Amino acid sequence: MLEISDIVVRYGRREVIHDLSLTVAEGEAVTLVGSNGAGKTTTLKTISGMLRPVSGTISFDGQRIDRMEPHDIIALGVVQVPEGRLLFPDMTVYEHIELGAARARTDGLTFAQRVEWVHDLFPILLERRDQKAGTMSGGQQQMLAIARGLMANPRCLMLDEPSLGLAPIMVDLLEDTIRSLNETGMTVLLVEQRVDLALRLAKRGYVLETGKVVLEDAAASLLNDPRVKTAYLGI
Ligand code: ATP
Repeated sequence: MLEISDIVVRYGRREVIHDLSLTVAEGEAVTLVGSNGAGKTTTLKTISGMLRPVSGTISFDGQRIDRMEPHDIIALGVVQVPEGRLLFPDMTVYEHIELGAARARTDGLTFAQRVEWVHDLFPILLERRDQKAGTMSGGQQQMLAIARGLMANPRCLMLDEPSLGLAPIMVDLLEDTIRSLNETGMTVLLVEQRVDLALRLAKRGYVLETGKVVLEDAAASLLNDPRVKTAYLGI
């Protein structure tokens, strides 16, 4: 479904992604793990069209997307929930939900059906419909960020550090939500500092170091890989 071949990405003259390739099959949950600065966020931003690779290609369903504008990539169903949530503190919960639908893919569920869907997934967002996003807890804000992403009607949902700063109970809820989205057919590409969580949720994983894939395997194998255990699981 998503195929990234040999992309090179630079910030100014500094190359931070070097010939990176990865694939995500339809319905799969795949994770990118790696330490701070390894290039995970940069990779997601490049897929979303916020950054352009200087070389290499990115295809979605066989169509090149690496020269497309971000809103056109969203309309194809490739949607990123950004790190740090990036909500508007003075906008209400429902305004964010509406905003998420602005560039949505037009086939699939209707707007009203999607509103119902995200409220079923996160009932608190219906309860807090008119509350300003900035006044909500970190966990509620993360739910809203995911709901906003889901309102775009994604086929491939990319999540950047969704567990960051959340209380343990919210992390559990988040894990259940991502798993159930994937089990109902949504393709997931997950970037997560919590490598244990990431490898429980994903079927396959890529380990990135300084802008390169250094290891790629089934999630269960990576969980048992001594290199992963030492570097990322603290075992
Ligand atoms: P983190 O978990 O810290 O977000 P990451 O694996 O997502 O790490 P990136 O944020 O993609 O890593 O960063 C990759 C490299 O690019 C790092 O060396 C970082 O310092 C650099 N970098 C990131 N954003 C910019 C930017 N806007 N301008 C210049 N360099 C950047």
